[in-house]
Amino acid sequence: MSKRDYYEVLGVSKSASQEEIKKAYRKLAIKFHPDKNPGDKDAEGKFKEAAAAYEILSNADKRSRYDRFGHAGVGSAAGAGGFGGGMTMEDIFENFGDIFGGAFGGSFGGFSGFGGYGSSRQRGRRVNKGSNLRVKVTLSLKDIAHGVNKKIKVNKYITCDACGGNGAKDSSSYSNCSTCHGAGQVTKVTSTFLGQMQTTQTCHVCGGEGKVITNKCTKCHGEGIVQDAEVISLDIPAGVAEGMQLSVSGKGNAARRGGINGDLIVLIQEEKHPDLIRDGNDLIYGLYLNFAEATLGSTVEIPTVDGKVKIKIEPGTQPGKILRLRGKGLPEVNGYGKGDLLANINVWIPKNLSKEEEKQVQQLGNSDNFQPQPTSDDKNFFEKMKNFFE
Ligand SMILES: [Zn+2]
Ligand SMILES: [Zn+2]
Repeated sequence: MSKRDYYEVLGVSKSASQEEIKKAYRKLAIKFHPDKNPGDKDAEGKFKEAAAAYEILSNADKRSRYDRFGHAGVGSAAGAGGFGGGMTMEDIFENFGDIFGGAFGGSFGGFSGFGGYGSSRQRGRRVNKGSNLRVKVTLSLKDIAHGVNKKIKVNKYITCDACGGNGAKDSSSYSNCSTCHGAGQVTKVTSTFLGQMQTTQTCHVCGGEGKVITNKCTKCHGEGIVQDAEVISLDIPAGVAEGMQLSVSGKGNAARRGGINGDLIVLIQEEKHPDLIRDGNDLIYGLYLNFAEATLGSTVEIPTVDGKVKIKIEPGTQPGKILRLRGKGLPEVNGYGKGDLLANINVWIPKNLSKEEEKQVQQLGNSDNFQPQPTSDDKNFFEKMKNFFE
């Protein structure tokens, strides 16, 4: 891959000042920022290319070598610690992160806070970030078992379509900022007992743009955003659980005056199933057999997330026995494998009997076969329960 001329990459002339170079880079870095172009490889390439150009042209020594020898003068052989064209995103944020003035949320670490306001070390034009939106989505166990697409209507700030988000009525609606005289920065000199201290800060009136809007967009009153509703399609993966949060990049509130959208944070809530209790990826069902079914054996229906299935009950089934239906539980979120459905057997003891029934049960109760004859396996029941719940 042949490299493009660095001046061409930044769109500046060979005689550009440091300030012009910085400004040009900042513009490209914001335009192709990964937060603004999620998953866009082309934008990532441009983002890296701009950073590579800025790395050379922002350094007087490297710039003069580049001017004399071109790319060969600043290649990986020329200067240890140079990026040699192989800069990772991390490198870029570590080295040039301050160019964004803390405007982007912490996706790459080292950046603090959303919104781009409030940090005193910020310099340069601030980029607004829209706030995150939070919504709750309630899912049935069936939704969770298979994954589901949910369309939800969200009230949010969207970019004003009348002005395209810049807040100005038209291109002639600007004048130079009178506070910073168009520089975008103000320099303050304060006297302290250590002497005079000079600090340069982003102009708070124009936010570093150097110009102010004189004629505001009438639809959004200069904010660049308007309130509206949007229907958002959410693909929720199988296996999610109560309390999990999914983040949808860029689907939150739009930012004032053409910044970066916030994210949509989706909080998962689980609808209670009438019969099934969730335990991790397993489902538990309390199965009640009547005395005859447990004694003589039977075929009974039990519910699953996908409707009822029939299972066979062996004669002489004791209460407390757990039947495991493999793979009838819930899938691992973003993974392989499924939990089981555990049918926990209980035997229903009747409470109200007719005189005739009482007589019959009394007779049965006197029979030798009706006396408890627990095996050692039955006696280990509590041990097994303990292991099960651990
Ligand atoms: Zn507008
Ligand atoms: Zn200003």
